[in-house]
Amino acid sequence: MTAETRAGEILAGVAARTGCKFLLAQKAFSNYDCYPVLAPYLAGTEASGLFEARLGAEELPEKEVHVFCGAYREQDYEELLRYAGHIVFNSPAQLAKFGPRARAAGKSLGLRINPECSTQEGHEIYDPCAPGSRLGTTRAQWDKQMTPALVALLDGLHFHTLCEQDADALEVTLGAVAEKFGDVLPKMKWLNMGGGHHVTRPDYDIPRLERCIRFAQAKWGVTVYLEPGEAWALNAGFLASRVLDLTENNGVKNAILDCSAACHMPDVIEMPYQPPVYGAAAVQAADDRLHEGTGNRDQGTGFVYRLGGPSCLSGDVIGDYEFDHALEIGELVLFGDLAIYSTCKNNTFNGMPLPDIYRRKEDGSLERLTSFGYRDFKYRLGR
Ligand SMILES: *Cc1c(COP(=O)(O)O)cnc(C)c1O
Repeated sequence: MTAETRAGEILAGVAARTGCKFLLAQKAFSNYDCYPVLAPYLAGTEASGLFEARLGAEELPEKEVHVFCGAYREQDYEELLRYAGHIVFNSPAQLAKFGPRARAAGKSLGLRINPECSTQEGHEIYDPCAPGSRLGTTRAQWDKQMTPALVALLDGLHFHTLCEQDADALEVTLGAVAEKFGDVLPKMKWLNMGGGHHVTRPDYDIPRLERCIRFAQAKWGVTVYLEPGEAWALNAGFLASRVLDLTENNGVKNAILDCSAACHMPDVIEMPYQPPVYGAAAVQAADDRLHEGTGNRDQGTGFVYRLGGPSCLSGDVIGDYEFDHALEIGELVLFGDLAIYSTCKNNTFNGMPLPDIYRRKEDGSLERLTSFGYRDFKYRLGR
């Protein structure tokens, strides 16, 4: 059984027990050759705009297509209406501008609310509830701008405030939603609780998630949607690289690989996040350990390496890892948990080649889905 199938069964179990619906947030994972693997478990796809909506409609034509975008563009909108059945707006002004056309086309309309309830620390760029956030409509904005005619356009509300979090954070958020928008919700047909639910992580509190879903269903009579991205393909996918060179500087052993954090796994730098490496243990960055006076970084096996890319960026570092042997040039280094936020987020900075993408079948064989070359670098830049 693949990691995706296991994830699908966990999510489908929640859906079966509660009657909620799960969507795949494609921005995290859009390797559509694998959509048929997930199809039995999901109600539809969630898109961040026109292209993802089209991909969802093309690749899973029998399923629902939902879209949320911070702001829609006029030139995309008519085409978007062909693909999406549910359209979520970020502001009353966007709802007023684009809502009536969607309604006339028979679409289900929603507004993203901002419950102003931050439940995460240390990941400010992933906190849509941070003061001054542009994402979602606060209650104050609602009271100022939502005329009865605009409210009448709505079928649902949407919130997305979590990132890699457990159900306790959802419970707190749902309390804030009830307090701020509890008067509006009984008029709605659906409530979309966004993504960021780490449902398929082994210690995730699934019973608490199910209580949250049932609470919303019972209190407001809404259909509950959840649209995780990560949870569908957590701990799936490998990135294979090789050691190109080994250098040493002030006691730090550097291994330069033929892959790049900045280009191939940007979340390593943005999040930040350290993926697992097969046969090695992630260790706290040597700099931190030296600052804390915890002494010699080579205390363990003596084979601690800082893995980095060949790019110009000093910070193109994936992390420090302890191996059980001395690395050699040409050796394979295999990263795990890189199905999500990687292939859909990579780039060709420094003219870095993109890695080919393979599907690993259950019998262990590999099938190449796509390969990249110079043209993929060049023709993004000109004719
Ligand atoms: C990012 C995002 C998701 C998916 O988030 P994950 O953290 O990958 O689960 C879902 N909905 C919206 C609106 C998002 O922005």
